[in-house]
Amino acid sequence: MTAVYLSLGSNIGDRKDYLSRALQALDNLQQTQVCQVSSFYETAAWGKTDQDDFLNVCCRIETDLKPQELLSYCQKIEKELNRVRHEHWGPRTIDIDILLYGQQTINDDNLKVPHPYMTERAFVLVPLLEIASQLTLPSGELLREKLALLETADVIKL
Ligand code: ATP
Ligand code: CA
Ligand code: CA
Repeated sequence: MTAVYLSLGSNIGDRKDYLSRALQALDNLQQTQVCQVSSFYETAAWGKTDQDDFLNVCCRIETDLKPQELLSYCQKIEKELNRVRHEHWGPRTIDIDILLYGQQTINDDNLKVPHPYMTERAFVLVPLLEIASQLTLPSGELLREKLALLETADVIKL
């Protein structure tokens, strides 16, 4: 089993319900268990800021799925939860990003791990460090040192 950290976000409809259903769907995957879940956080939209606030959560799963298999399942869960792709970084019922897959670095066309923006996003690092305060990147850098450089006022624990 490999420890994998995921970031989930929602900013359409019943956001809590979408996040809960996505976490349940992840736990239902073959060879996969959701082992740790952070608090839910209310966060201001990032990148494309003219949209409703998000709810964000991070979790640790333990899985025997390969990275590409896990990505496919995450996209399948997004589809089942009414995710429609319109504009880049636009509103969505559910977004599931793979942050870390063990300590692997992956550079496939459709899958970059560590997630390329994770160290720039307080809405990712605050929930992530809540459940894994000592977590490092494959480079050995401590994520909490990255978080120390970010503004966190817009990330509010529910
Ligand atoms: P961002 O990746 O900046 O958070 P986004 O989540 O809005 O943006 P999506 O539209 O959900 O982007 O995904 C675009 C593509 O990103 C997906 O089709 C997927 O192949 C690719 N991708 C690359 N790396 C990852 C990763 N670590 N986790 C999830 N998707 C990834
Ligand atoms: Ca994302
Ligand atoms: Ca995504």
